[in-house]
Amino acid sequence: MSVLSVRDASMVYPGGVTALAGVTLAIEAGELVAVVGPSGSGKSTLLNIIGTLDRPTSGSVAVAGQDVARLRDRQLSRLRAREIGFVFQQFHLTDGLSAVDNVTTGLLYAGTPRRRRRELALQALTRVGLGHRASHRPQQLSGGERQRVAIARALVNEPSLVLADEPTGALDSANGQAVLGLLRRLNDEGTTIVVITHDRDIAASMPRQIEIRDGRVVRS
Ligand code: ADP
Repeated sequence: MSVLSVRDASMVYPGGVTALAGVTLAIEAGELVAVVGPSGSGKSTLLNIIGTLDRPTSGSVAVAGQDVARLRDRQLSRLRAREIGFVFQQFHLTDGLSAVDNVTTGLLYAGTPRRRRRELALQALTRVGLGHRASHRPQQLSGGERQRVAIARALVNEPSLVLADEPTGALDSANGQAVLGLLRRLNDEGTTIVVITHDRDIAASMPRQIEIRDGRVVRS
């Protein structure tokens, strides 16, 4: 069973823009994959449908074997919370919360008891090399450290799939390389990761590239 299966998915936005045209792809457990394409090629649209934040106009999406179209909104939220960890270009951490409290937010929908949440969050921070920064707030951390906190939050629930949207886009090249190195290590440890990027060099450094252009997969 694939972690992610997209079949013949199209997305036509109101107004008639075809952002995706018949995309088919599958991602297996344990993969590290780049989705690469220039601006306007449909990456964000694909990310939104893979992340179950949006439903395609036609075609199907299955995450961890569950057909997204068959789920009601609440079931879909639960699937998303359990199976998908998100990493964003701008980190999306909460300023008023410590690193460890930011990471525990990744468990809020999983029904984990409070004390266990904290334990798991500390473990996840340790995995990304930030166990010693647990009580720091985002403002007290460098950009690279913030992104590592965000990665810990994405991992804490042990999702089937981590989706990273331009994860190095807001970082200088040294911090960017460190974050990519971390994603590679996490993948070596078994986490399935999809990195969305416009950067061909980043894509080329990944074991598999899915290239999209004008809403179509031109290489997978
Ligand atoms: P990328 O992330 O690769 O830059 P997008 O998925 O954002 O590509 O965009 C693909 C195409 O869909 C573009 O032509 C874009 O203008 C269009 N598009 C994206 N979002 C919307 C929307 N909400 N409404 C209408 N058109 C959109």
